[in-house]
Amino acid sequence: MIRIEDVTKVYKTSTRPALNNVSFEVDKGEFVFVIGPSGSGKSTFLRLLLREETPTKGKIYISNVDVAKMPRRKVPRLRQTIGCVFQDFRLLSNKTVFENVAFALEVIGKPAHTIRKVVPEVLELVGLDGKSDRMPNELSGGEQQRVAIARAFVNRPLMLLADEPTGNLDPDTSQDIMLLLERINRTGTTVLMATHDHSIVDSMRRRVVELEFGKVIRDDARGVYGVGN
Ligand code: ADP
Ligand code: ADP
Repeated sequence: MIRIEDVTKVYKTSTRPALNNVSFEVDKGEFVFVIGPSGSGKSTFLRLLLREETPTKGKIYISNVDVAKMPRRKVPRLRQTIGCVFQDFRLLSNKTVFENVAFALEVIGKPAHTIRKVVPEVLELVGLDGKSDRMPNELSGGEQQRVAIARAFVNRPLMLLADEPTGNLDPDTSQDIMLLLERINRTGTTVLMATHDHSIVDSMRRRVVELEFGKVIRDDARGVYGVGN
């Protein structure tokens, strides 16, 4: 579903490539950890998939479409097929839990009756039924991340990109969030997660793609975070 071919990204303000001749593929329904030290290129990779950046060289195919060559007017449609979750949750602080999730449907023009039906379903899926009228600042970090995951998933995206989703959470809450991401993965959604969290990577035993200085230095089918990291 994702095919990265010989991708190099050199930012304008930099001489060293953020990604250096990277190639790999991700099948539909896979769960992939992207690991590596700060500055190794993880976020650049996620931004390329979203067409927030374009590669200096190489090709990025999502469902056989070359994302880098996609006309600008088609980018919003691409982004609708990709759910995103971040370390800092990025909820709308002046909207309720329900409204935060509903917003993702409103912006793509879903009718009110669909929103009224679908939002409670997805809030139940993430374990937040009963909290729809809360404001984000009334929720724990783990609950806020559940709202963010509900919002990312409510359009049933092909893939979910998670950039350090457990970075602000304690270990127990992080494990709960991982159970939720696994559940979403089991629905057939491809999950790509950039992380520094050793214990999560080690406990999940999923595919691990490790970056260092913008190169893939390891790609293990059932990997651990790795010795020496
Ligand atoms: P990671 O997510 O693994 O921390 P990044 O993809 O953010 O890595 O960064 C890879 C390299 O690219 C780093 O050297 C970083 O400083 C650089 N970089 C990232 N974003 C930009 C940008 N917008 N402009 C210039 N350099 C950038
Ligand atoms: P994280 O590692 O937490 O994902 P990053 O360091 O990758 O965060 O990037 C945070 C923001 O700063 C991004 O929007 C990125 O484009 C920007 N950025 C990162 N490194 C540089 C850099 N060297 N020069 C300019 N902008 C950068």
